[in-house]
Amino acid sequence: MKEIPQIRLYNSYTRKKDLLTTHEPGKLGMYTCGPTVYHYAHIGNLRSYIMEDVLEKFFRYAGYDVKRVMNVTDVGHLTSDADEGEDKMIKGAKREHKTVMEIAKFYTDAFFSDCAKLNIRTPDVVEPATNLIPEYINMVQVLLDKGYAYKAGGNVYFDTSKLDKYYVFGEHEEEDLAVGVREGVEEDTNKKNKADFVLWFTQSKFEDQALKWESPFFDEMGYPGWHIECSCISMKHLGEYCDIHCGGVDNMFPHHTNEIAQSEAYLGHEWCTQWFHVAHLNDETGKMSKSKGEFLTVSLLEEKGYDPLVYRLFCIQSHYRKNLVFSFEALDNAAQQYDKLVQKIAQLNYDDKSELDQATIDKLQDKFVKNLAIDLNTANAVSVLYDVLKADTNDRTKLYLIEDFDYVLSLDLRKAAEKLKAEQAEREANRYAGIPEEIVQMVEERAAAKKAKDFAKADELRDKVKALGYTIKDTPQGAEIIKD
Ligand code: AMP
Ligand code: ZN
Repeated sequence: MKEIPQIRLYNSYTRKKDLLTTHEPGKLGMYTCGPTVYHYAHIGNLRSYIMEDVLEKFFRYAGYDVKRVMNVTDVGHLTSDADEGEDKMIKGAKREHKTVMEIAKFYTDAFFSDCAKLNIRTPDVVEPATNLIPEYINMVQVLLDKGYAYKAGGNVYFDTSKLDKYYVFGEHEEEDLAVGVREGVEEDTNKKNKADFVLWFTQSKFEDQALKWESPFFDEMGYPGWHIECSCISMKHLGEYCDIHCGGVDNMFPHHTNEIAQSEAYLGHEWCTQWFHVAHLNDETGKMSKSKGEFLTVSLLEEKGYDPLVYRLFCIQSHYRKNLVFSFEALDNAAQQYDKLVQKIAQLNYDDKSELDQATIDKLQDKFVKNLAIDLNTANAVSVLYDVLKADTNDRTKLYLIEDFDYVLSLDLRKAAEKLKAEQAEREANRYAGIPEEIVQMVEERAAAKKAKDFAKADELRDKVKALGYTIKDTPQGAEIIKD
């Protein structure tokens, strides 16, 4: 078995670049917060999923046996981080005059279709939040029994004062958080502490809540809070330890903070200590967000003529921890770069039967891995593709390395180059379609004369062709023949 390289990733939990360790050697349990399926994913959401996809594939490339789990939030995610506000799923259903389940199905499918276009692998487990209601009820019951939760005003809350440390990511001041007292939001007077969050709601809070379940907590039917789903889904599929947990930076608080609070209170030990957060994609007006209503989607990029993989390249050209500003100009640059790369690869000899050059393979693979192993430097990893193209080695080795790296980068480089080659061959085959044989022969003779530097003969042939009603236009790809 290949030896797994040392990987250091910035860990939001310790605020340092930690050496990656896993609970079981060689195995890696990875959890990703999935989409809230009340609308299309915008390209900002997809930035997070692209970078997490590169991370997952890099882990696999490095030799880990990865199990990746993702939830799909189809219930209970409020429009505000406070406990008030409207359920996002209900809001989506109202907007489209559909049921919550119809909305969830439609936007879940749309999400995975976008992911497929961006070459984002579907996680090994995808679990809709509504699948595990008994597990949530069990966790809430255990938290009540252990004294970490309390009932108030028809809801079950997590009591944050019971923890030694609640604000584990450390970047938030209690004052900023004031979870229940955002502008325009009434304070939740049922809570003991400002930061307490809801584990289980009852219908009394939202009269029109469509999805609700019985629970041992209240006579009224109710539904889970947003955070509990990720703790339970992770534990169901990855056990009591999660090796790495991913999401966008906005998930750090309150979502991930609350996941840690309830999971560790429930388990009685540490749960996940490696946190990978992707910085935001912003547009010129600020953070892209679904709740703003207008946002860019993969379909919109396609309508404008962009290949979704150009957007993938745009994302991986930047470091995941830096905010990235989207503009069509920047996307055009990525498109140009993609085309150039594909053109260069298309020039390689695909029939080269030389021996693979192992020394070059080892050297460049090592460079590729080192770039990714130091906090996922994807931009530098992309630049190793240029090292491959420039390398003093045979084309078979170059093509081998390009495909090898593309397992992680997933830009379909070889496929795009093959398509380009096929298009070029077809254009060549049809170059003189519909032109009389006699004319084609003269044009070919002229090309031969030019090559032999017999310019007098070449000019003479051009004039003859002209007299017969055709113009020769010289292009970098050879002569074109245009009927006058
Ligand atoms: P949501 O569907 O709103 O639950 O978000 C899905 C994922 O996208 C989460 O991991 C968010 O943290 C992430 N996300 C939300 N907005 C952005 C953004 N503008 N740029 C990058 N990631 C984002
Ligand atoms: Zn989550």
